[in-house]
Amino acid sequence: MKKLPALACFILVMINSSGQGRVKDAPLIKEGEGPFPQMIIRGVMLINGTGAPPTGPVDVVVKQNRITNIVNVGYPGVPINDTSRPKLDAGGKEVDGKGMYLLPGFVDMHGHIGGGQAPFAEYVFKLWMAHGITTIRDPSAGNGLKWVLDHKKLSEKNEITAPRIKAYTSFGQGSKEPISTPEMAIKWVNDNKNNGADGIKFFGAAPDIMDAALRENKRLGLRSCCHHAQMDVARWNVVKSAEAGLTSMEHWYGLPEALFTNQTIQDFPLDYNYSNEQHRFENAGTLWKQAAPPYSEKWNEVMNRLLAIDFTLDPTFNIYEASRDLHRARRLEWHEAYTLPQLWAFYQPNRISHGSYWFNWGTEQEVAWRENYRLWMTFVNEYKNRGGRVTAGSDNGFIFQTYGFGYIRELELLREAGFHPLEVIRSATLFGAQALGMEKEIGSIEVGKLADMVMIDQNPLENLQVLYGTGAIRVDENNKAVRVGGVKYTIKDGIIYDAKKLLGDVKKIVDEEKQKAGFVLKQPGDN
Ligand SMILES: [Zn+2]
Repeated sequence: MKKLPALACFILVMINSSGQGRVKDAPLIKEGEGPFPQMIIRGVMLINGTGAPPTGPVDVVVKQNRITNIVNVGYPGVPINDTSRPKLDAGGKEVDGKGMYLLPGFVDMHGHIGGGQAPFAEYVFKLWMAHGITTIRDPSAGNGLKWVLDHKKLSEKNEITAPRIKAYTSFGQGSKEPISTPEMAIKWVNDNKNNGADGIKFFGAAPDIMDAALRENKRLGLRSCCHHAQMDVARWNVVKSAEAGLTSMEHWYGLPEALFTNQTIQDFPLDYNYSNEQHRFENAGTLWKQAAPPYSEKWNEVMNRLLAIDFTLDPTFNIYEASRDLHRARRLEWHEAYTLPQLWAFYQPNRISHGSYWFNWGTEQEVAWRENYRLWMTFVNEYKNRGGRVTAGSDNGFIFQTYGFGYIRELELLREAGFHPLEVIRSATLFGAQALGMEKEIGSIEVGKLADMVMIDQNPLENLQVLYGTGAIRVDENNKAVRVGGVKYTIKDGIIYDAKKLLGDVKKIVDEEKQKAGFVLKQPGDN
């Protein structure tokens, strides 16, 4: 999460490192259909994730879990000539792709696998898979590294229904004492690698410790991400992290601080307290305004420095959106059916829950945050235009953003920032794979890659909202409002999952929890 998230993440880690598992393991049930000796998706429109425009009809051939052929089989508006099509082997499976779009599986670069607010791995995993997410990076391994690695292995073997998992342990997790020297940092980084982690999630630390840890981690060939929490940004910002070898910055903190020209510290009010969530988030809403303006000398200099290092931005726009429109976030239509009672309770205004900073939140805060978004989005969009890698991450399970749905909202917000829908899809697929070092295996629909794909009976480029599990609204020929879309199939490792069935399973979990608790969804303050 954002500023508060640092705290929440730390608390989570402490609880888990004390051995208390709070999230129920995913059930060991083989779901989905496949993989097949051969599968041919016939006559589909292909969006391959590389930035190439849609093309179709094509036949996509998969053997077991690998894409082995992609064949153009005709032209729009005329029947397909069957003689030119790949032949189905004995025992093969055909999937009718007529009128459908096929995209690479999505990568959620910021996916916490639940927590006390969402204590069922199945709930989180199926919400992700139902929204086409076939790979996630867990930034902090909040359920404990061992738990996450166990689920990573089960997902690899497809013994659970879950995306592929990359585990980035939160820095210092499991250490018996606080890491206070570069030597301790280097030792922890090596232990983390030996424990099987894929990388590290940082929240900031003293400069000598950050520097030592980042350099050692990179030397070992692991990757990293950082939420530059406010407590350390005055002495260690995003540029310093990037120069020391950080792979991606999360959210946005630490970037405005690198862009200061008239100050060296955020303009904190004198009665500010970082432990007061309204203080944190309200003042964060004025932060971009304090940074060098777009296209100024300093702004260009910082951007170009980050570009030269091939640094990745993972903005997680969606997770702050309630800050600019609280009404919208708390009335999102999927809360009724798909937000767990525990998660709903966690979202409510509260001085303790991370990201529930609505003590006195109104017009002034929202207007400031809209301007904050405008300046932030300008940076992110221009970074992309100059060749920079921007990825899609959700950070869901906080601030009225529910898993899967929030990820699709992230795609919409990249669009709002100025990305062409094809650029949005590339960020969600190939660029995510690159940032994880997985681009040889996933991230695009190309021969030789793993068969991780999303199928939908609408064109997502025309309206990204069709990707929401609840679909998009259309008025039909009979002047009746109907729902269209929602992902139809999520394919992972050549296994086809019925996305609507996954959503049905999620709803069942939610219904059961509601029944147990006698829960009725109410808005804050309504008793
Ligand atoms: Zn987070």
